[in-house]
Amino acid sequence: MSYQALIERLTSLGISFQRDCPIAPHTTFRIGGEADLLCVIESLPELHDTIIACNSHHIPYKIIGGGSNILVSDKGYRGLIIINKAKDWEILEDAEIPELKSTALARHRAEDVVTPLEERQNKVIVRIASGIKIPTLMNQLLKVDISGLELFAGIPATVGGATYMNMHGAKLFFGDLIAQAQLLSNGEVKNVSQEYFQFDYDYSILHETQETVLSCDLVLTQGQSKEAKALAKEWIMKKKNQPQRSAGCLFHNLTNEQQEKLGYPTPSIGYVIDKVLGLKGKTIGGAKISEGHAAFIENTGKATAEDVLKLINEIKKQMLLKTGIVLQSEIEFVGELN
Ligand SMILES: Cc1cc2nc3c(=O)[nH]c(=O)nc-3n(C[C@H](O)[C@H](O)[C@H](O)COP(=O)(O)OP(=O)(O)OC[C@H]3O[C@@H](n4cnc5c(N)ncnc54)[C@H](O)[C@@H]3O)c2cc1C
Repeated sequence: MSYQALIERLTSLGISFQRDCPIAPHTTFRIGGEADLLCVIESLPELHDTIIACNSHHIPYKIIGGGSNILVSDKGYRGLIIINKAKDWEILEDAEIPELKSTALARHRAEDVVTPLEERQNKVIVRIASGIKIPTLMNQLLKVDISGLELFAGIPATVGGATYMNMHGAKLFFGDLIAQAQLLSNGEVKNVSQEYFQFDYDYSILHETQETVLSCDLVLTQGQSKEAKALAKEWIMKKKNQPQRSAGCLFHNLTNEQQEKLGYPTPSIGYVIDKVLGLKGKTIGGAKISEGHAAFIENTGKATAEDVLKLINEIKKQMLLKTGIVLQSEIEFVGELN
């Protein structure tokens, strides 16, 4: 693959990039080989122009937000990795507040881990660039007395990745807050409403369309910042056993049907990996099934993607043998398979 034309275009746009650049530091797992090209973009026009340039020169690209739901191949990525750090936001004064739907999950029972704040009527719409990290955004909004993100406290995601995955915190899904979003789709910017995304558990239509989220208009609450801050703190404390050098929960929790059939006291996949499969603490190379939370695999130092994949396969194999269930992974593999 020749990158010359793309390199010339990026240079003329003033977008800096690196060749043969390690991807691992841009992921929470801290795992993965090198990208042929990597650029860190700081604004939405840069994100837009970089993608248009890749498309017109037929160079594959992959956007990474927080890098908190991906496992990057030890062989790296052939193409351009775009690290999205576009982080502006603005309150849309006088914007109409639409009726929003919640991701209806009749087949999954969420556990009551924290009590959400009482629902208030005074809503506000905030347009947010896709590269801002959720904890940063939450703190900046709390400073101007806007709440609504507290159930996502501590999740190292960006707004773009949270939309792509329909990130969930307690019983709230990120998609539940989206009034509209601005997408880059086949070179055109388009406005879409919540319905467009077909949000589900760990799913949005973006998995199929591969469109890019430029920004999202979130419906948040004006006020309650004191209570929201306290709830965020409580929630972070409850999650303190989750290892940060990971990619979050590895697998979907059990469905209601699966839980009832197996007679387990909880749908938590962490419970199953620990108590049913007895795999908590199992280690392959530098990858370990976390002692703190068995639904997470952590990088203990020098884990490779291959180590993680072997552990994932071991969990899947034992699960099938002991329960007959085929587990579905929540994390995405990026790059060439090892
Ligand atoms: C410690 C820890 C705790 C976690 N806790 C939770 C939790 O409570 N709930 C939960 O749901 N998840 C959790 N996760 C997983 C993860 O944070 C979420 O899945 C999150 O939505 C991923 O966002 P990201 O920005 O890191 O996406 P990335 O990992 O960077 O990317 C994931 C996918 O989104 C795509 N993407 C990223 N940005 C864009 C964009 N602008 N437009 C289009 N596509 C884009 C990427 O190309 C990739 O396909 C946790 C992870 C960790 C490490």
